[in-house]
Amino acid sequence: MRIAGTVCGAMLLWVQSQAQVTVAKFKDDCNGAYVFTFDDALPTQLIYAAPYLDQVGLKGSFYLITRNVADGDAAPAIGKPTTWKGWKVLADSGHEIGSHTLSHPDLTTLSADSAAKELEGSAQAIKTKLGLTPITLAYPYNSRNTAVTALALKTYMAAREYQSTYGDVSGGANTADAMNKFPDAAVTARKLMIGMIHGLTEPYAPLDPAQFLVHLKYCRKLADDRKLWVARFCDASKYGTERDSLKLTVKTQTAGHAEFTAASPLDAARYDFPLTFKVAYSGDAPASAQALRAGSSVPLPLEILPGFILIQAVPGPAAITVDWPGGTGLAPSAKSLSSPGNPASRPRYLPDGRRFRSRQKGPGPIRTASPTMSGNG
Ligand SMILES: [Zn+2]
Repeated sequence: MRIAGTVCGAMLLWVQSQAQVTVAKFKDDCNGAYVFTFDDALPTQLIYAAPYLDQVGLKGSFYLITRNVADGDAAPAIGKPTTWKGWKVLADSGHEIGSHTLSHPDLTTLSADSAAKELEGSAQAIKTKLGLTPITLAYPYNSRNTAVTALALKTYMAAREYQSTYGDVSGGANTADAMNKFPDAAVTARKLMIGMIHGLTEPYAPLDPAQFLVHLKYCRKLADDRKLWVARFCDASKYGTERDSLKLTVKTQTAGHAEFTAASPLDAARYDFPLTFKVAYSGDAPASAQALRAGSSVPLPLEILPGFILIQAVPGPAAITVDWPGGTGLAPSAKSLSSPGNPASRPRYLPDGRRFRSRQKGPGPIRTASPTMSGNG
């Protein structure tokens, strides 16, 4: 048996070294991913946090206690009320609006019926007031158990299960240097990390807005260097779930041509975030490349990097073909596949062969991290 295991291990290594098409762990093949989450629908999230995120071109996920919003149906549970109009502006500018329940109870202390009302009622309020269906949740007090989690996932696609705490509270990061350690850890460990922020100047877990802005600019730099995918939680959740459910089948791979299918059992109507596929080639970067999904004449977005062509595509049953005329195609080294390093350190090319200069990132990133359970949610 020991011999069989050794043989299998060797074969696995050989297969990996020949692989031409892989899916990137994170969007754009970034090293790590990071999500900014904001709890409790507090006024300074509207006054500072969202404008600062917009200023640096990043997007966050905001978790509303829907009865804490001014024209809700009860007095605010925590802090001063905000207005639906304020949150509509955020939603329209690309930030995620998620649920933090109706009134912020510890869901583990409620009956199943009461917990369901908190979860479903909050989603309904957001849909009614903002015209959008929230797809992720932050548990009040980060408190959950198996039954609460099962109930939450009946209404929401994903719920935050770990977080790194910001602000002047036990275990919280309260300076830019301390905050920067969170995204640094995501990059170094190649994982998804989630920051949890409350208000900026409110009494609970206050945070110096100026320090937070310095931190956001630091994250912007990591994103520009393609080290960090800064994503909304909904996008990170979709990407991770799609990636982990993927059945990737390479049909053909020759010099300058690859064909593969990227199937997923997930509901494509809900799991609609493009994954980043990496098609490896050897030799010089091709001057151009094109990726098409069978049955469509619309080229899939792609970028040519040294050693790889990155393609953005939602999983689906139709085959995807990639052509890079004049390419040599086969057999990149195992090292280049398993350890692509920081793409920003390599020259990058556009599909027409011009050197890549700069680009704007849209709302992005995902999931894998050791819990940092501190703070109250
Ligand atoms: Zn909370």
